[in-house]
Amino acid sequence: MRGGTVAGMPRRTAAPRPVRSRVSPERAVDNRGIGRVLGILQSEAPKWNAPVVTLINTHERDPFRTLTSCILSLRTKDEVTAIASRRMFAIAGTPERMAEIAESELARAIYPVGFYRTKAKQLIGIAQQILERFDGKVPDEIDALLTLPGVGRKTANLVVGQAFAKPAICVDTHVHRITNRWGYVRTKTPEQTEMALRARLPARHWLVINDLLVAFGQTLCHPTSPKCSVCPVARWCPRVGVVRSR
Ligand code: SF4
Repeated sequence: MRGGTVAGMPRRTAAPRPVRSRVSPERAVDNRGIGRVLGILQSEAPKWNAPVVTLINTHERDPFRTLTSCILSLRTKDEVTAIASRRMFAIAGTPERMAEIAESELARAIYPVGFYRTKAKQLIGIAQQILERFDGKVPDEIDALLTLPGVGRKTANLVVGQAFAKPAICVDTHVHRITNRWGYVRTKTPEQTEMALRARLPARHWLVINDLLVAFGQTLCHPTSPKCSVCPVARWCPRVGVVRSR
């Protein structure tokens, strides 16, 4: 019996197959193409929500607030980060005030961000070290930032790039996923992607790529089932590794 089911036997479900792209996987986005696709995303970006740490950086213009809100944003939704950051700034908006605050009070203020107890301890440690080792000022070098508690490469690059407008590439899960889907890099981890982009990406794109791809990744190029049918850069995308799309 073709196309039907045999009584009593469960119907077999076919495994999802990679989406067919009009662009073959060999035709990865190259250095000419990256300028074109980022330019298109830039013109689309006003329709999307900017990442919350970018909004805080633009509004506050204070490296300490950019750094501390970035810590809150790790593994936390933007809406939660925005509200928790406001509560945190109200009671501990400077290194001096943060260094003095009780850990339990800070944890209560930033709840329910992910790992709020651990982050409260890290934030107080960051403030104390900034006062003790950096004369009360957030350092503007990646290597120095990496010595602070809870600060990894993503946070360090974001602070250097956004708060100090110095060359940096902040690679989070969105930048890692999307640049691999474009075939622009072929990497297994965000750290490898950062190094690959540092070697390949023209410097003029370094500071904008994170903002653009975070907003694009949250709006269209989702981790599972990206919205390829309405994607403005679909005609140049080889969709490397995409198994299901809308
Ligand atoms: S949404 Fe689809 S077509 Fe667009 S960049 Fe992502 S994977 Fe490529």
